[in-house]
Amino acid sequence: MTPERRNTIQVDVGGVAVGGGAPVVVQSMTNTDTADVERTVAQVADLARAGSELVRLTVNNKAAAAQVAEIRRRLDDIGVDVPLIGDFHYNGHVLLREFPDCAAALAKYRINPGNVGKGANHDANFATMIEVAREFDRPVRIGVNAGSLDQELLDSLMEENARATQPKSASDIWLEAMVQSATRSADAAKELGLPADKIIISCKVSRVQELVRVYELLAARTDHALHLGLTEAGMGTKGIVASTAGLSILLQQGIGDTIRVSLTPRPNEPRTEEVRTAQAVLQSLGIRPFLPEVTACPGCGRTTSTFFQELAQEIEAFLSERMPIWKQETPEAAELKVAVMGCVVNGPGESRAAHIGISLPGTGEAPRSPVYVDGEQFTTLEGPTLKDDFKQLIEDYVARMGTRSGASK
Ligand code: SF4
Repeated sequence: MTPERRNTIQVDVGGVAVGGGAPVVVQSMTNTDTADVERTVAQVADLARAGSELVRLTVNNKAAAAQVAEIRRRLDDIGVDVPLIGDFHYNGHVLLREFPDCAAALAKYRINPGNVGKGANHDANFATMIEVAREFDRPVRIGVNAGSLDQELLDSLMEENARATQPKSASDIWLEAMVQSATRSADAAKELGLPADKIIISCKVSRVQELVRVYELLAARTDHALHLGLTEAGMGTKGIVASTAGLSILLQQGIGDTIRVSLTPRPNEPRTEEVRTAQAVLQSLGIRPFLPEVTACPGCGRTTSTFFQELAQEIEAFLSERMPIWKQETPEAAELKVAVMGCVVNGPGESRAAHIGISLPGTGEAPRSPVYVDGEQFTTLEGPTLKDDFKQLIEDYVARMGTRSGASK
């Protein structure tokens, strides 16, 4: 029961399809100084290898813009072909014009309509960025953010609301201003000659209920592909839970064509955590598989040792390590379901329901572990080689998956 995707206009971002029924794309953003080529290349490569299908860089000044083409070259040299997106605020019109090699190296430009200038400058600066996008045949993301909402638009909607016979709440007007900022900017881009299939929209806020509301409004009013994300989600569990809650409600309604989880990494924590979280959200919802799944019981008083916790952890690590290799020949291994269970109460049942599962002995049970394959007991493992033996059985199962799909091609 995979939620059906909402029909949107597909956008090609450097060879990655976003929207129009394409699989939901995972993206991320670097936090290095873009002018620091070494560190930026290393982080983009890490994010891409973790599964980020698009990576955004800040292009905030001339020093950064001057290095984007070099970053692209170095990534190509090491075989990392992930499309790069330029994140522009305030001076994008200047940087894209002054650094055409930067404009050419980027696969998409993010434009924040709240940060392109005030009054007449707003329209002129916006038009310049759209002109560059047309010249280089690049798509743009109209990326509205609650923290930098177009103040003139918000003020005018507030004044209009104040004159209404039944005024709406300030919060409703604020969300309406975000949606209008995005849709009016998309319309302006089209009037300037940018085709509809070169436009992605986002409206990011930092609270879950507002995120849901603003994207429901957007989805009702536009067919443009939507980039989803809770901005400033925060650190650790709070950021992961809040992002998962907001994204899941929307993805379940078919809303969202590409997602980013904006986690604040703790010092020394890998940036790639946001990529793994985004993948886990999509996989948990049954929208897109990335890694084989391990069903493991939580353990209880029936388990005599931590052995089964260690086995579950080791099998998870083994699957993550092997998946990039299996992906070459057997991409369907991403759909593999493995069970690691702690005793006879639920062990055989869950193990039978998985493609391959092991039911370890609980307190008082015989020290043998039945292994189930495709619902049937296949063998029994015991002794010091149990972990390696079970890994080998998984390896054999994946090899058979490859043979079956190869035979059906
Ligand atoms: S399967 Fe057994 S060990 Fe695991 S939680 Fe259930 S009763 Fe406890």
